[in-house]
Amino acid sequence: MKKILPLSFCFFSFLANLAFPQPPSPESQLGFPVGADRKLADWKEIMNYFALLDKASDRLQVVELGKSTEGRPLVLAVMTSPQNFARLADILNIQRRLADPRRVHPDSLASYLRRGRAVVMINCSIHSTEIAASQMAMELAYKLASGNDAITQEILDNVILLLSPSSNPDGIQLVVDWYKKYLGTPYEGSGPPWLYHPYAGHDDNRDWFMLNLAETKLITAALYQKWFPQILYDVHQMGEKGPRFFFPPFYEVSNPNIDPILLRAIMQIGGHVTTDLAAQGFTGVATEWTFDTWWHGGMRSAPYFHNVVGLLSEAASCKLATPVEIKFDDITGGGRGLLNARDFQTNFPEPWKGGWWRLRDIVDLELSASYSLLTLAARYRDQWLHNFYRLGQRAIEKGKKESPRAYVIPLQQHDAAATQKLLDIMLLQGTEILRAKKDFLAEGATYPAGTFVIDLAQPYRNNVVALFEKQKYPEKRRYPGGPLEPPYDVTGWTLPLQMGIEYFACAQEIKNLTADTLNAFNLPTAQLPAGQFAASNLSWEKGENFIVSANSLDAYKLVNRLLKKNQSVVWQRDKVPDKNLLLAQTDSDELAKAAQNLNVNISNAAATNQGNGLRLKRPRLGIYRSYAPSADEGWTRFVLDEFEFDYKVLEDGDIRRGEFVNQFDAIIFPDHRDSTILFGRRSADDDDDNNKYPSEFTGGIGTLGLTYMRRFVEQGGTLLAFDDATRLFIRQWALPVVNELDGVKAAEFSAPGSLLRGIVDPGHPIAFGMPRESTLFFGNSGAFSVKEGRTIVKYPVQNPLLSGWLQGEAKMQGKAALVETPLGRGRVILFGFRPQHRGQTYATFKLVFNSLWYAAADEVSLGKAVTAEE
Ligand SMILES: [Zn+2]
Repeated sequence: MKKILPLSFCFFSFLANLAFPQPPSPESQLGFPVGADRKLADWKEIMNYFALLDKASDRLQVVELGKSTEGRPLVLAVMTSPQNFARLADILNIQRRLADPRRVHPDSLASYLRRGRAVVMINCSIHSTEIAASQMAMELAYKLASGNDAITQEILDNVILLLSPSSNPDGIQLVVDWYKKYLGTPYEGSGPPWLYHPYAGHDDNRDWFMLNLAETKLITAALYQKWFPQILYDVHQMGEKGPRFFFPPFYEVSNPNIDPILLRAIMQIGGHVTTDLAAQGFTGVATEWTFDTWWHGGMRSAPYFHNVVGLLSEAASCKLATPVEIKFDDITGGGRGLLNARDFQTNFPEPWKGGWWRLRDIVDLELSASYSLLTLAARYRDQWLHNFYRLGQRAIEKGKKESPRAYVIPLQQHDAAATQKLLDIMLLQGTEILRAKKDFLAEGATYPAGTFVIDLAQPYRNNVVALFEKQKYPEKRRYPGGPLEPPYDVTGWTLPLQMGIEYFACAQEIKNLTADTLNAFNLPTAQLPAGQFAASNLSWEKGENFIVSANSLDAYKLVNRLLKKNQSVVWQRDKVPDKNLLLAQTDSDELAKAAQNLNVNISNAAATNQGNGLRLKRPRLGIYRSYAPSADEGWTRFVLDEFEFDYKVLEDGDIRRGEFVNQFDAIIFPDHRDSTILFGRRSADDDDDNNKYPSEFTGGIGTLGLTYMRRFVEQGGTLLAFDDATRLFIRQWALPVVNELDGVKAAEFSAPGSLLRGIVDPGHPIAFGMPRESTLFFGNSGAFSVKEGRTIVKYPVQNPLLSGWLQGEAKMQGKAALVETPLGRGRVILFGFRPQHRGQTYATFKLVFNSLWYAAADEVSLGKAVTAEE
């Protein structure tokens, strides 16, 4: 309908239209409406659409944060009013000040709250098969870019929206390509048989404090160094048959380091959004169910520790873009906080009646929830900003009053590379770190200049404490005497422990500390002092023989680089406990090149060494990958890539064909259920119409593959099996090792993701470079009794728990955690824990790396070793 408008309005809107044509709808570009059955836009199409919108609208600007793991653009679509865009620098300056109340003069606060805008991030489809949100993002952007209604205007005037169409672009492309390829076949709607993040798969949402991945690094820097959002909403999907939608408030349990203002704000937003959804006629919406706020490390949970309200929604899925029909009687889904999803409950007041469920249903839910959230963010803009400021203030106050007051990270560490990594990722997530300029006294001990201190009187105090303290998971049982209610993710993650780094919590204030301040703006890397660890300033003589301490993980990078240049490297065997790497007749220019940017300790060596050693070679390494993908496999590749090991991937079919037997020194089987390794994906002919796969992706290694694997070991190969994969080989090959936790009921033993103490035998080549005690990541894993073989790491006879939760510890005390057992001319190395879990467990990486070198090494007498490699 045509309205009669005053002339001036028409004139200006005419001018505006000249500069900015009417924004194109997603349908006009894609050729189908968002959420249509069996239609998906891939990453290129999504990016094209946002680029067009950027050109056509003065309410949207696309910002590229950097490149994804596979090199695709990782973007934020920033949306707000043109007036706000015009003064973005002022708004961002206010954000940064409110994020750190020490930078706010009390007289300026009122003006900041008036001039500031609420920054809200909405993140879509980090899990790529949870595809609807990536499509919804286009429609949400279009609605905001084209809408002239009062609510849209209110949102644009008061909010800066950071819309991430996906924080995993590689996965969106992979999933959409897969979906389109099998559309109209019996395999339509199945998920791809590969990890949808190249390294992490589903664990791409488990990396938000470790920051291993390109995506988590880039987004974390954007969040805590530039935009400082007040609210972050992460949009997910779950199974098909339970509730239609989950929105917070969350279920128990909650992390004690989350400020109560945040927990209440989550309820405030949850109440608002779910009321809107009910009023709009959506049913099957659950709150206070399954998802909790205990764990740190998810996209919406890391923000709690940065004074940000983190929200999650989980919509019921269809089969990617293919609709599913769900009969009322087939609706399942109970779990924590909900008896079932058919009956009324206070936190589930209107069950869904069943029927067809389509991509568009999910898009509608996510769109409504987003708009509702943005409306609330706009309406109480000054409250969000004020609370954000107060949260920072409260964290600083807490840091001044409560214990611990500070963490001290001594300079003398076993592993310099791990220490550097810890300091750098803490800086990246906004931590302020002090580096002492003079010696100082803390709790009765003197620390030298150069020591690092994290004073907890800082805005992100809660983040530091949540990462550094030992977690005590609250005991919450299903019924008195019953099993523990399992946590949503892991129970313990204490970062310095996982990384093998010494640190002290100070209960008292450290007085008279003169220090430099390191932070993301000022000194963004905690470069360890030259001469202490850094290779850049070592006093080598130009010579031929060098010694490298294997304590620093960077020594592994160095050696791998040298081995690639055919330099001779020998493990000195007889110097217990400090095993050193002898670089014999090494070209010192090659060494200097290889040691660049590494934290390694190199010194000259006398050429006349006595005793025995192991001459290292580049191991010919295979990694097993199932078509039922395991994130543990991806993390294994990640860690090996980080430390510059070469490898080949062996898929189920490769193992079944058996050609690998003479081609490898070592093969790794990452954590995987034994039945999955053996049988793999279900056959394409199975009756069940769920997730059929083309035949090339079905079947596991099978009994034939298992026979070839045995032949590989018997002929001298080394097999490494991690966690659950150990069960397959122990059972099938009747290895002389018993897993004492096999078949034990959850009520009798439970350690669902905890950090445990391990006692290391430093005399075994697999433990070279390790301290005598280490921290092991354990997720209901293995504890072995060994009849034949050698124990390399064992659990102590006391309670091994360091952080998290452990019940039934008597069953594992004194048992073996890492075992080498012989088979034919080869060996099987059984890891009863996760040595490279999520790329976080720096403390135990060496156990893997040494196993690989050991697999290819030759015994030599050291006198011989210093002659050139033949
Ligand atoms: Zn998800």
